[in-house]
Amino acid sequence: MPATSTHTTPSDSGGTPQPRSRLPTVGTTIFSVMSALAQACDAVNLGQGFPDFDCDQRLVQAVSAAMLGGHNQYPPMAGVPALRAAIAAKIATLYGRTCDPDREITVTAGATQAIFTAILALVQPGDEVIVLEPCYDSYVPNIELAGARVVRVALDPQTLRPDIDRIAAALTPRTRGLVVNTPHNPSGTVWRADDWHGLADALAGSDVVVISDEVYEHMVYDGQPHHSALAHPAIAARSVVVSSFGKTYHVTGWKVGYAVAPAALMAEFRKVHQFNVFTVNTPMQYGLAAYMADPAPYQTLSSFYQAKRDRFRAGLARTRFRLLPCEGTYFQCVDYGGLAVPERTLPEAAFCEWLTREIGVAAIPLSAFYGSPTEQQRIRFCFAKRDETLQAALQRLGAL
Ligand code: PMP
Ligand code: GLN
Repeated sequence: MPATSTHTTPSDSGGTPQPRSRLPTVGTTIFSVMSALAQACDAVNLGQGFPDFDCDQRLVQAVSAAMLGGHNQYPPMAGVPALRAAIAAKIATLYGRTCDPDREITVTAGATQAIFTAILALVQPGDEVIVLEPCYDSYVPNIELAGARVVRVALDPQTLRPDIDRIAAALTPRTRGLVVNTPHNPSGTVWRADDWHGLADALAGSDVVVISDEVYEHMVYDGQPHHSALAHPAIAARSVVVSSFGKTYHVTGWKVGYAVAPAALMAEFRKVHQFNVFTVNTPMQYGLAAYMADPAPYQTLSSFYQAKRDRFRAGLARTRFRLLPCEGTYFQCVDYGGLAVPERTLPEAAFCEWLTREIGVAAIPLSAFYGSPTEQQRIRFCFAKRDETLQAALQRLGAL
């Protein structure tokens, strides 16, 4: 093929048809890109969000016991009953909502699959779906793959908190979905009860389904509660609420999560789920069900991560990075405009690449969470790391 050619024909490529991309503007996710770069450069990886410490060995033992006990064939399509019952019991205790585990809870292959399945099942081509920007990178491609139109509504530019008036102004008769994320990746902001009340009023009488991504539900700091969509009856009645065991139990690689929705929405969700993954791996579900009998691991998660947040913020406060607030999640955003190095003027993605290659600390550019180019000199660090890892990063960042 000539070097200047931009098109290939089947004969150029040895008979392989040239695909027409469903996602022509999408490349590899920033999280994979930065983790690969961090590894190649032997940098401290504060980019992609995952712990660098192991999970509780009691959880591993519970899963091993399930495997050794012969739980190795397909489970029921919606998930192992004991796990769905444990999820329902937890929701009743924490959020005061009674869910029918048989009709309203489905175990999924992580939150990513739950969100995509909800969108595919509940949104029609031509519908409009609102995302609140900045937002997690899977939402927009999910909406596009469903053939729907993405409507981007900005979070408040100063506080990165939801602005209900802006959401209300974006609603049209074609609006069918709204994706909410609290605690919020990347900003670390959390929804308050008033935000949900305001949203309930704005959506009253509409057909809008809320997809509430609550994967960081157990990482909320400074004594604030997590305000789940499930705790607000008018919102819960129109929501698919998604969570992930990966975040809560330090097992991001297991890819097990769940979706909760009223039976009428869940029936449609399951029609797509059964022809997508069909079921989620059995021994993990038995292991998780047994482990959930003890609430301590999720009850203590906020204080565990709050201590890390506080130590990391105290260290960053001694550098030239400017800290943004962090009310929840395991992400800390900073502004690098005040650094003493000339690279402080680089665009965010180029700055992150430089930081990884030359300083040895990987981070994520906030521009990755926006649709059109935004440059605010802001990056995201993940502090779900051992204290030694955070110390090593802080030592390098302190030199800038
Ligand atoms: N939503 C948000 C906001 C996330 O940060 C993540 C990160 N992993 C996910 C969804 C996906 O979760 P899972 O790994 O369970 O698919
Ligand atoms: N949610 C994680 C983050 O925000 C990454 C998950 C992924 O790599 N897809 O860093």
